[in-house]
Amino acid sequence: VKRYARKLGLILIIIVMAATVGCGAAADETGLGRETIAQVSTIDAILDGVYDGVTSYGDLRKYGDFGLGTFTGLDGEGIFLDGEFYQVKADGKVYPVSDDMATPFAAITWFDTDLTVDISEAMTNAQFTAMLDEILPSENMFYAVKVSGDFSYMKTRSVPGQQKPYPPLVEVTANQPEFEMENVSGTIVGFRCPPYVAGVNVVGYHLHFITDARDAGGHILDFTISNAVVAVDYTSDFYMILPAPDSDFYKSDFGKDRSGELEQAEK
Ligand SMILES: [Zn+2]
Repeated sequence: VKRYARKLGLILIIIVMAATVGCGAAADETGLGRETIAQVSTIDAILDGVYDGVTSYGDLRKYGDFGLGTFTGLDGEGIFLDGEFYQVKADGKVYPVSDDMATPFAAITWFDTDLTVDISEAMTNAQFTAMLDEILPSENMFYAVKVSGDFSYMKTRSVPGQQKPYPPLVEVTANQPEFEMENVSGTIVGFRCPPYVAGVNVVGYHLHFITDARDAGGHILDFTISNAVVAVDYTSDFYMILPAPDSDFYKSDFGKDRSGELEQAEK
């Protein structure tokens, strides 16, 4: 870490405390514990157009205060931060999320900081992920990643709500609205997932964004940090919530390799 910090000359790394992973943090009301990522459905189900709501947001709140997801019918991008839930729709605007809304895909956890990194000079998306890759102890663990600060550039997208029969995600994202922002303050919210969850979640980084003004955001395509504080939550437990048996989920072919579609739809 020191070597890398010297090399970059612009980051300050603080280990806040020994990883809280597995040390018996107080359980939430689900009994799963705080070091759990709860996930609704799978990314390959979304790629296959399984957009019916699985879990209500009222229920999802029980699993954490930090994460990302989408909405019934793929109606926009979800950002969950500090217990507040936001919906960025295809018009680029931010809407509140009510408990009776539901999600066909979400990942959520209780955010407890295990590591912080101060970034005080310009850093691109690629430089940022390379830096974190160098610092994080293993690629075989889940990490929740929060980046709060100023961004000289931020490019996001959202997706328009779909009607049945739902098209696959790549058809929706082919015409996705994209939003470019300059000199914006806000927070990146997301996860780095291990290679063995391919098909279940996005391997590597999946990041969403919300402005401090809570007036823009979405699924991140690119960014450049001006200065920011990065907080990482090491997360050891993973809990899946799958759709009810009458869902289209059970007609999907999950033997199919959708990694090419994922690259096309999410990057
Ligand atoms: Zn996303």
